Amino acid sequence: MVMGDLVVEVDVAVVGGGPGGYSAAFRCAELGLETVVVDSGKRLGGACLWEGCIPSKALLHVAALIEDAERARDLGVDFGEPRVALDPLRKWKDERVVGRLARGLAAVAKTRGVEVIGGRAVFESSRELRVEGEEPQKVRFKHAIIATGSAPAALPGLALASDRVMDSTAALELADIPERLLVIGGGYIGLELGQAYAALGSAVTLVEMTDGLLPGVDRALVQPLARRCEKLFDKIRLGTKVTSLAEKGSAIEARFDGDDGVFDRVLVAVGRRPASAGLGLENTRVNPDARSFITVDDRCRTADRAIYAVGDVTGEPMLAHRAMRQGKVAAEVIAGRPSAFDNVVVPAVVFTDPEVAWCGLTEFEAARAGRAVRVAKREWAAAGRALTLGRTDGLTKLIADPDSGRVLGVGIVGPGAGELIAEGALAVEAALTVEDLAGTIHTHPTLSETLMEAAESLLRQGG
Ligand code: FAD
Ligand code: NAD
Repeated sequence: MVMGDLVVEVDVAVVGGGPGGYSAAFRCAELGLETVVVDSGKRLGGACLWEGCIPSKALLHVAALIEDAERARDLGVDFGEPRVALDPLRKWKDERVVGRLARGLAAVAKTRGVEVIGGRAVFESSRELRVEGEEPQKVRFKHAIIATGSAPAALPGLALASDRVMDSTAALELADIPERLLVIGGGYIGLELGQAYAALGSAVTLVEMTDGLLPGVDRALVQPLARRCEKLFDKIRLGTKVTSLAEKGSAIEARFDGDDGVFDRVLVAVGRRPASAGLGLENTRVNPDARSFITVDDRCRTADRAIYAVGDVTGEPMLAHRAMRQGKVAAEVIAGRPSAFDNVVVPAVVFTDPEVAWCGLTEFEAARAGRAVRVAKREWAAAGRALTLGRTDGLTKLIADPDSGRVLGVGIVGPGAGELIAEGALAVEAALTVEDLAGTIHTHPTLSETLMEAAESLLRQGG
């Protein structure tokens, strides 16, 4: 590395230090490529660590504790009313969860010799970028990997400059527990954070524009979650749009189609947008699409041969594990290895109560494509482990090819679905058959048995 005149010369410059960026950088370093990461915050972790996956799951864990304590009453154990102290809760989330992981990432970067440069990166050409900020400098690279991620989408036409109107980042700071919380958007964030706030004591009203929660997800999987939300939330308004938001004293007045309400805080969770603006892409051959996503091929190459892109900025699904896999692929391709993002599935989990998880083909997609499939549904009502947990509100679904018996898709709803889906993802990715799943000994009593039992029921259907 040549440091003279504040010009750094490297094999690989990674722009953005989130899961896509740090996975790419660590793999590049492992493969012997001199690598730097430029991140606006001069830190690794990105949205996932600082304002996404990790802090939200920490809050959801606390929500689960509260809900389990409540459920315990039915089993004859009463812990009394929970009392939530926000300072220790925030401290635990920020220091012992997020802070600890951040220190871990920084240590890995140090060990692998990956320098993290603080500042905003702007491409000046396909070989050089300018870093703006406290330590202005130039980085000359042989290859660059864009991993700038995404940012919360705003509500079109309803911008209100009030700290009572929060995006997910503000909501995760947990400034207080609002008595009345309006959640706009019934997708991943609206449901996860809506449930977390409801468990902590907020009366939550959720407004979703489409006619169901989690649009696009198998309705059979969403149903148990919708039932739980009906209990947990004050109101759910489907097929509804917020038409105005106005500050009224120390509250926010919201109007929805044909209704209105006053809230102490509003959480806007209506999707995320790629962070591709202001990157100087016009000085390269990288060409974002109409929605501002950067198009990449299965090797994470952009239209500019020197520049790769990974993670949320490359499109949906905007999930951390997809970003990480793409990051490793980009690094390996740059190092000359025969690597590709050729994964059959990107599993997804909504970490609500109950959790909803899926991977591969859904029944709906199969019907839409006119593809014949065999489907097995294993309700958890008679599953031993589910009964011992007092949680029979689950379902395991298996979708298979009628001729080859190959597992094409798996959907699970219920506590622990986020862990259970790993077996489904492996089954689809490794082209396992229903017989493979049915013939594998699953430990008893576990929720994983429901996968084996669903497979057995498919075999019975097959005669
Ligand atoms: P990001 O994590 O967004 O990182 C991009 C980084 O680039 C940031 O640090 C940013 O500051 C930096 N940057 C941007 N522009 C520049 C520039 N010009 N110069 C320098 N640096 C720049 N996904 C899951 O898989 N599981 C979950 O449970 C989950 N929960 C979530 C909960 C919430 C509330 C949110 C908001 C998201 C959640 N996600 C979850 C999505 C996940 O956070 C993203 O998919 C993931 O962070 C994308 O990684 P990335 O590397 O593409 O970008
Ligand atoms: P989302 O796309 O999951 O959900 C947005 C919801 O808002 C949709 O249901 C949509 O119909 C609704 N909506 C849009 N405009 C609306 C309006 N004007 N009024 C009412 N409803 C409206 O987006 P999100 O919840 O903001 O999350 C963003 C992304 O972050 C997710 O798509 C996902 O990729 C990622 N994420 C993942 C996890 C996870 O993996 N567990 C958790 C949180 C976020």
